[in-house]
Amino acid sequence: MPHIAVVPGSFDPITIGHYDIIKRALPLFDEVIIAIGTNSQKKYLFSLEDRLSMIEKVFADEPKVKTDTYKGLTVNYCKSIGAKYLLRGIRSVGDFEYERTISQLNNSLSPELETVFFICQPQYSHVSSTIVREIMLGKADASKLLPPGLEGLTV
Ligand code: ADP
Repeated sequence: MPHIAVVPGSFDPITIGHYDIIKRALPLFDEVIIAIGTNSQKKYLFSLEDRLSMIEKVFADEPKVKTDTYKGLTVNYCKSIGAKYLLRGIRSVGDFEYERTISQLNNSLSPELETVFFICQPQYSHVSSTIVREIMLGKADASKLLPPGLEGLTV
């Protein structure tokens, strides 16, 4: 059975922080699926198509990385594709508290699903999609917070 990890998130847009944890996790898994969860109630800056094509561009040379989208519960999506691992990043104590709750909930709904956490590198602990969006909407250059291949991205 291949070891498949799902990286769930909005990726609005993908940042250097996401990129860093995904790259570091690659040796552990046979396949890493970056899955964009869609929520019709939520407003996004970038369209789903744009977010997917950004991720595909960034990981074009990584055969282990796939992209997908899903609706509904992450645990149901993981079950439907046979993924046994979730990959999440932790930047701060705030992230830890949030991630612990979600991980324990997911594990109670789906005991065979394990969440694997990567602590972010210190230089990326201030990086978030929210900050990137603010910078772009303020017409400043967010290149330093974006993964390789997306430099110069604007809204
Ligand atoms: P959501 O839409 O669920 O808020 P995000 O795209 O913000 O999703 O985050 C998805 C995952 O990426 C989360 O586990 C989050 O902690 C992690 N992450 C976000 N930014 C960073 C970063 N700078 N370093 C490490 N992990 C990060």
